[in-house]
Order: sequence, then structure tokens, then C-alpha cells
Amino acid sequence: MKTTIYYFTGTGNSLKIAKSLSEKLDDCDLIAIAKIWEEDYLASSTEKVGFVFPLYYAGLPKIVYDFLQKIELSKSNYFFAVVTYAGDINTTPLQQIQSILDAKSKTLSAGFYILMPNNYIIGYDVHSEARQKDYFEEAIKKIEIIHKIVEKNESNLGKEIFEKHRIKSEKFNKDFRDNVYAYDKSFYVEDTCTSCGICVKVCPVNNIKLEDGIPQWHHKCQQCLACINFCPEKCIQFGKKTIKTQRYHHPEINVKDLINQKN
Ligand code: SF4
Ligand code: SF4
Repeated sequence: MKTTIYYFTGTGNSLKIAKSLSEKLDDCDLIAIAKIWEEDYLASSTEKVGFVFPLYYAGLPKIVYDFLQKIELSKSNYFFAVVTYAGDINTTPLQQIQSILDAKSKTLSAGFYILMPNNYIIGYDVHSEARQKDYFEEAIKKIEIIHKIVEKNESNLGKEIFEKHRIKSEKFNKDFRDNVYAYDKSFYVEDTCTSCGICVKVCPVNNIKLEDGIPQWHHKCQQCLACINFCPEKCIQFGKKTIKTQRYHHPEINVKDLINQKN
């Protein structure tokens, strides 16, 4: 059965998981949400469909939420989701997906969480290299498990996952989605910027432009943190916290992979 995996990534954690899983599944296409989400009409064409994305503010990233609302899924019958995360975990993103699928008379059959190294450097510093290595090793094992379940079109979600009280984290996530475009007001650049344009290139939603050689953010931010994490000079800051935090992107995912996400 042919599969399509739709993914969204900022620093490569979700892309690495999506790539690894797509290589294991027979006949699987990998499609970047950032490449297609603004198209007038979106529709899946394969029977099996997966969504791979990071946990943002206890739920779905805005771009993933908007994409799921928009895509027509009538030709697909088996749905799974893989959520990458680095801190607290909760069931809200799976519940949000099911709510959206409910409106399309579809059911989320399987949902998974994979712990990955922290990239949310505006809140917390990155994990040590030793810890990152542990997470990568565990992720490989988890992908094996996911593959076995998805390959057989199995379900791992009981009804209880959709019945849990979730109002608090849903509100938290909705507040985030309603306001995230403007969160980029806290970004600024130090004078070590070389005007290399990498931040412009890796931004999945083309939210950054070089003006007189200096990056300017244009308030359509998804807060994926690709720009701040991929800047080779480490000269992008977000408030005061990131002056002290290190930078992270998945070691097997590079600038070109991020550019490919949108082009
Ligand atoms: S990636 Fe960094 S050095 Fe390059 S233009 Fe952006 S802020 Fe400047
Ligand atoms: S401006 Fe930076 S944080 Fe915002 S979407 Fe673009 S790359 Fe991500």
C-alpha cells in the first residue's frame, strides 16, 4: 500500500525521523508541508498517510494545524502521526489531529512520540553530545517499532486517548497559534553578521529578508528556530536568553535539506 508522509521541520529532528521511516516503508513519498501549505487546493492521493512534526506549545505547530484543516483526505484510509519532542509530553497533538479528522469522517489509527535533542534554545540550552547520542540511538529503536505497526496498518490508539481532559493545553496551544506570527519581534542580529543569507534560506516560510545586508523578520514566523540555530556566526539572538545558550541542528540535516523543504 502506497504511503505519503507529510513533514514539517525546523532544525531537522522531524525531517530525520520522517526520512528514516520513509526509507523503511515500501513505496513511500516524503512531502514537505512548507512546500505545499499555501496552495489553493490540497489533497492526499495515497491510501496510507502519515504526519511527522515537532510538538509546539503542547500541541500542533500552526503550519501543521492549518495544513491539516485544509487538506482533502477522502482517498486515504489509514492515518498515523509521529510527534518529536524534547520536554514535556502530552496527548493534545493527537487529539487535535483526531478533531480535524472527525470533520473529514476519518480516524487517526496510530500515534507515536519520539524524544529528540532540545532545539528550543530560546527557553532551554541544548543537551550534551552524549545525551544527544542516546536520544538518536533510542529514536532508531522507536522507528523500528513504528515501522512494524504502520506497515501492518495497525492501531495503537485506544478511545481513552481522545477522552482525556485537554482544555488547558489546547488553550495554551491556541494562544500560541493565534500569536506566533508576531513572536519574531524578539529576534535581533549582532554586528558579527556577515550577511551570508543562510537565515533567509533556511526559513521554511520565507519570513526573513536581508535589508541593507541585515536580516529583518516580517511577522509570519512559525517559531521553528531554524534561523537562529543554523546561523553560522551564532549572531541571531532572541531576547537575552540565547546569548548564553548553544545552537543545535540535527547533525545529519543541513542547510540544503532545509532549503529543499520549501523549494
Ligand atoms: S545567517 Fe547569521 S550571519 Fe548569515 S545573514 Fe543570517 S544572521 Fe547574518
Ligand atoms: S523566522 Fe526563524 S523561527 Fe520564524 S519561521 Fe523563519 S526560520 Fe523559523
